[in-house]
Amino acid sequence: MSNVLVVAEVADGSLKKAVYTALTFARQAAARQGGEVHGLVIGSSTSGAAEELAKYVQAVHVADDAALANLMAEPYAYVVKAAAEASSATVVCMAATAHGKDLMPRAASLLNAGMASDVIGFAGDDGMQLLRPIQAGNVIAAVEITTDVKVVTTRPTEFDAAAPADAAGAVNAMAVNLPEIKTSFVKFNKLASERPELTDAEVVIAGGRGLKEPDNFGKVLEPLADKLNAGIGATRAVVDAGWVPNDMQIGQTGKVVAPNLYIAIGISGAIQHVAGMKGSKTIVAINKDPEAPIFQIADYGVVTDLFKAVPELLEKL
Ligand SMILES: Cc1cc2nc3c(=O)[nH]c(=O)nc-3n(C[C@H](O)[C@H](O)[C@H](O)COP(=O)(O)OP(=O)(O)OC[C@H]3O[C@@H](n4cnc5c(N)ncnc54)[C@H](O)[C@@H]3O)c2cc1C
Repeated sequence: MSNVLVVAEVADGSLKKAVYTALTFARQAAARQGGEVHGLVIGSSTSGAAEELAKYVQAVHVADDAALANLMAEPYAYVVKAAAEASSATVVCMAATAHGKDLMPRAASLLNAGMASDVIGFAGDDGMQLLRPIQAGNVIAAVEITTDVKVVTTRPTEFDAAAPADAAGAVNAMAVNLPEIKTSFVKFNKLASERPELTDAEVVIAGGRGLKEPDNFGKVLEPLADKLNAGIGATRAVVDAGWVPNDMQIGQTGKVVAPNLYIAIGISGAIQHVAGMKGSKTIVAINKDPEAPIFQIADYGVVTDLFKAVPELLEKL
């Protein structure tokens, strides 16, 4: 049988939100090629995540071992290969999160499989031609993977979250036999933040070079973000200038976000930035230059000085 295997990402014992979007892709793929949707949970103390995933798939394969306690692409890739074989998967997919982008090319290599990354949908009503953005999202390519096993990462912002299936699938423990691993885990510096994660936030407020100096991220953007319970993002220009950490970067070489509301403040709207946020439902731009390209994609534009507009907006809110 040709099944579809979804590799789940688990954080603090729970499935990451992006997993549910990869499940939607997996169901669409299974509808096109036939077969079942299976899930894979890798880690240590994963029973909660496995039970949750079972609500969405026909079977969950669980590789639970102390050696897999930390997200590491090298050992995880061996597990993905073993699970793909055990589940007779011909499509192996995962959301294109930072971890998915790290893990899946290695898994594809071990499986001798072709891979398409950042997939946003299918071309046509049947068949397995996949759509993926190239050239900073200005061109959508239709690609076909010609190997027997196909490895795919899916862009979370392009698929709705899956609903649970009618009946929960079986949970099967896998034997974990790892070869010698050449990388070792040192430490994970978790950022302590009260704010919603950028890629999960319903509202994103992003700042650019128009903010003039790093302190203004705190002084101007944070009160607004607090008011709207928003995640805060940034352009690459200010990340490269060292104003804010690079996990705040949105764009072609940063994160891809699609919140309900995106407020771009002092951002010109370069194509590389727009590639990471143009899927947002409503886009608001505040920029003093009426010719700024961001206004071409904004639903609402305010042509004014941000240092005047943002406090006014805050007061109104
Ligand atoms: C290969 C490659 C990859 C890239 N990847 C990314 C990426 O992932 N993400 C990304 O963001 N960029 C990326 N870039 C960089 C991108 O091309 C732009 O340089 C960058 O997005 C510009 O950032 P900015 O809008 O903050 O700055 P600017 O382009 O300098 O724009 C600042 C804006 O602020 C406005 N402004 C100034 N003062 C005020 C004020 N007082 N009130 C209101 N408005 C004001 C100005 O009118 C201007 O429009 C990439 C570039 C390359 C070549």
